[in-house]
Amino acid sequence: MKFLCVECDRQMQFEERQLPGDGTLAAAFRCPACGRTVALLTNPMETQLVASLGVKIGGTTIQPQPMETVRGMVTTGRQDAFVEDGEQGARGGPRWSADAQERLTRVPNFVRGMVKRIYLDYAKERGIAEITPAIMDTARTELGLEEM
Ligand SMILES: [Zn+2]
Repeated sequence: MKFLCVECDRQMQFEERQLPGDGTLAAAFRCPACGRTVALLTNPMETQLVASLGVKIGGTTIQPQPMETVRGMVTTGRQDAFVEDGEQGARGGPRWSADAQERLTRVPNFVRGMVKRIYLDYAKERGIAEITPAIMDTARTELGLEEM
């Protein structure tokens, strides 16, 4: 990750970094030519994603510990994991309609597995055989998951 000062076309230099206990990362970069500074603030999830990419900030690699969580989630979000779940229909679990599958592909990769699981559990609990966009809408409203 690099920051460029557009006006000077210079790479900004890392200036300070804070890693508060809640996982939020704050970093500042300063242009050596004009002195302009840029601050980067990430939430805990983004911090873990950055860490999982092995990005070094200020010469210090963020602790590798929490990133395994993210890697696991990325793995569950893979396309082939999605196919496996689609085949679950044959084993008695809820199926995904083509529309619903299409909609699921618009969910960001790293949360897709989790989102999928939420809908699957919802459908199973209610004996729903096929998950459709309409079911997803209902589930979202009932579970209060407006963002998914
Ligand atoms: Zn500059």
